[in-house]
Amino acid sequence: MSYVYLICIIQQQRNITEQIATFFTFILQRRYNAVMKKLKLIVIILAILSVGGGLAYWIHGRSQSAGTSSFTDVIDGFNKKAHSLTDPSSIWVVVNKQRPLDPKTYAPTLVVPQIPLRSNITSDERQVAKVMATPLENMVNDAKKDGVAFDLESGYRSYNFQVTLYNSYVQQQGKAVADSQSARPGFSEHQTGLAADLGGKSKPVCNVETCYADTPEGKWLAANAYKYGFIIRYPSDKAHVTGYIYEPWHIRYIGTDLATELHNIHVETLEEFFGLGSAPDYK
Ligand SMILES: [Zn+2]
Repeated sequence: MSYVYLICIIQQQRNITEQIATFFTFILQRRYNAVMKKLKLIVIILAILSVGGGLAYWIHGRSQSAGTSSFTDVIDGFNKKAHSLTDPSSIWVVVNKQRPLDPKTYAPTLVVPQIPLRSNITSDERQVAKVMATPLENMVNDAKKDGVAFDLESGYRSYNFQVTLYNSYVQQQGKAVADSQSARPGFSEHQTGLAADLGGKSKPVCNVETCYADTPEGKWLAANAYKYGFIIRYPSDKAHVTGYIYEPWHIRYIGTDLATELHNIHVETLEEFFGLGSAPDYK
């Protein structure tokens, strides 16, 4: 009797165990199906996104390939390849101690701008590149309306002019000092005709000196030059990038598109904007 009872108990327990196992299998199956459904959905979404993204990239690439630009050259709608950085006649040419003019004896098309000139200015230096003459005249005329009187201290400097200037520095102060105060021939931005040193009447002692930054002319230039396509080429605290100490009087024409872009994104130097690396010294 007790033996049969025992068998019954065992049988009941076995049924319960089987029922529990069946229950868990059912639960796991349901969860598995739910997870698989989610996975399928994620795969479909990813597939749609990658096809759409690829298509957008392709369309963008095609629209840019009309010029010489690639997808990565256009950042926030600004085309960094709109002009050459090496052609000395390009308004975006970057000349520094690592990037001489090519050819080193390059000479641009020049004109004498209709603005006040330094009284004893040389026949070389009174000229500027034709492309920047009108923007320079407009800027100087508009400044005059604000009561700020600029004059041109120095515009274009030919290769031969720079040879004489640099050699006189070397003779007087040695090569190290000469390199810190004057560009070597073929390495001067003034040779492109796109650079100009401006002076003013308010405090002549500060012309071509650091204190120019504190004069009405220096302040007006810092605030407004970009509107006419110019930048202060050698900002303060950027000598390690540009190779030159602060020159608040030295402006460089780059056109209003780039000057405005640099102003808007708070990038001060061409080297940083174009990712060209620093040029603290000669090679
Ligand atoms: Zn200069």
